[in-house]
This record gives sequence, C-alpha cells and structure tokens, in this order.
Amino acid sequence: MIHLYDLSFDELAELVAEYGQPAYRATQIWHWLYTAKAGAIDDMTNLPKALRQRLAATARVGCMAVVAEQTAHDGTHKRLYRLPDGQLIESVLMRYADGRRTACISTQAGCAMGCVFCATGQMGFARHLSVGEILEQVVHFARQLEADGERLSNVVLMGMGEPLHNYDATLAAITRMTAPDGLGIGQRHITLSSVGLVPAIRRFADEKLQVGLAISLHATDDAARSALLPVNHRWPIEELMEACRYYIEQTGRRVTFEWALIHGKTDTLAEAEALGQLLSDILCHVNVIPLNPPDGDEGTPSDPERVQRFMDTLRSYGVSSSVRVRRGIEIDAGCGQLKAAVLRQPPGD
Ligand code: SF4
Repeated sequence: MIHLYDLSFDELAELVAEYGQPAYRATQIWHWLYTAKAGAIDDMTNLPKALRQRLAATARVGCMAVVAEQTAHDGTHKRLYRLPDGQLIESVLMRYADGRRTACISTQAGCAMGCVFCATGQMGFARHLSVGEILEQVVHFARQLEADGERLSNVVLMGMGEPLHNYDATLAAITRMTAPDGLGIGQRHITLSSVGLVPAIRRFADEKLQVGLAISLHATDDAARSALLPVNHRWPIEELMEACRYYIEQTGRRVTFEWALIHGKTDTLAEAEALGQLLSDILCHVNVIPLNPPDGDEGTPSDPERVQRFMDTLRSYGVSSSVRVRRGIEIDAGCGQLKAAVLRQPPGD
C-alpha cells in the first residue's frame, strides 16, 4: 500500500500518470492532502469515482491508528499511534494561553542514542519513520484543530527519536511542512531538538533553513554529560559548541540549549557559572526546566529563588534564559524523561 504522505509531488504526478490521468489530478490530490487535509480518499470529491476507487485499491491517506489518547488539565493532548508494522509512537499537542498550538512529534520508533534518562532510549532503536509517518502526525493535529476553528502554529521535533539520525526523512518532512503548497507552517515556527550529532548539525546548518535548533545540553563537563548522553563520548562538548557556532553562522539564528534544573544538583551557583562561561560567546538562549523529583525522597524541585539565582548568574555572563513551564506530561526535557538520571548525579551546594 502506498502511503500518500510519503510521496513527493513528482512521485504523486508519476502515480497519476501511471493511472492514465491528466497531470492536474496530482495537483488536486496534493491540495486534498495538504490544504484540505482530507481524512480519506473518498473525501476527495472532485476526483472521478473511478480514480478514487483505483487510488483506494493501491494507496491510503494515512497509515497510523490511534491506540490511546490522554488530555491533561492544561489541554495538553497526547496520542499513541500504532504503525502498520506494529511499532508504537507518540505525538503531543500543546495549547498555550497566547494561542500557540504546538505539535511535538516523533521521528523514529525507538532511538539509538541511549540517553540513560529516557524511556525511549532504553527501548533501543526499532526503525526510522518515513516522511509520511512524520508528516501524518502533524496533519492529524492540524486537521483536528481546523475542525475546531483553530490552527496548528508550531511544530517541535522533540518526540521519540533523534531527528538528525533520520536526516533525509526529517528534512523532507520539514520541507513539506513549511512549503506554501504544503502545510504552510513558517520555518521559524519549527524547532528541531538534538542530543548533538555534530556532522548532522553541520549538514543541517548548510541547508540554511530558518528552523530553530535546540540542543539537550544538561551538563557542562564531558564526564557528566557522557554519563547522561552517550553520544557525548563520540562528540564531546567542545565539538558540539563548534557545530552550534557554525549553525549560527550559516543561519543567523540563535541556538537554544535545554538545561534541566534540580535542586542542589544542576541549579547550583557553580553550575550556573560553568554554563555561563561555556555559552558566553555563543548567540543562544537557555531553557531552564525545573523538574519535580519523582515520588520518594530523591530530591526537591528548584525553588523560585534558586531558579532566579541561576538565571541571574547566566545573565551576568550575557546569556539569556527563560523558564520553560512543563506541560501536562513529561516531554519538556527534550524527548525523554530526564529527571531520573539527573537525580543520580552527585549533590552540589
Ligand atoms: S532523549 Fe531523545 S535522543 Fe535521547 S534516547 Fe531519548 S529519544 Fe533518543
């Protein structure tokens, strides 16, 4: 079965030609997929019935079945999809008071990066998602919002998987999300989150897109970072920072660094100073993410004074930061559940 969202426009045009149909049918189908966001081939009412039947026999609009859904009190909506081969992936829709509607989507089933804090990482890598499987997650939320008179405004690639490990499909999906005849989402409204695949960051920089880059940093020295993010063994912090500088040079965009804040562990003055020094000459912004400890006595969340001290210290190095409010579920630490491993770090002041 052909997944229509897997096809580029040229591939769709070829399919339509194979069916002996005039070329403008491809434009019509494309419009149904990306503008009208039709849920089924039968909804494409300006196609002749015979073409719809032919398409329905060989292709489908989507391939993912919703197997579970949850809505948190703040409106955050989480979905679990089953793919045709049985793999399960998650997407999340976040609703913000300022009207933003942000989809957090997955790029892989499982993940090869092995971040010790992350449930997905512990599952291991199953496979890359196809372009269509990445896009379909976005389309599902966009369709749902449009039915309610709203619009999907932002996309963050922070769900399951490391987007830059699935480079080609991720790039193709971003291209179609942002194309005027695609989903029409502004490049600046898309953020890709990475644990730091240095060669892929450089390649992505060379695309010269205006897509935001977020890096899960979480530690300032290689030993601590490697303990959390094994990818750091391969590409240590200094190389990562050079790649981030290159991204900034090529795109003119600042890089966002994610930093999980745990009382007495990652919110200390020493940590703030080390982070300020590391980032002082980089055009960047730090998202500090105060994390609640899990049930039990492993720690306490950073209180507002410590959060403020941390941010003030960063500011003294010329580094801007803001607190990211966690939404409904634990997705905000950057594609995983960060807190467990951070809590295992030795205490500071
Ligand atoms: S945190 Fe992200 S990159 Fe790391 S293992 Fe989890 S999904 Fe993969």
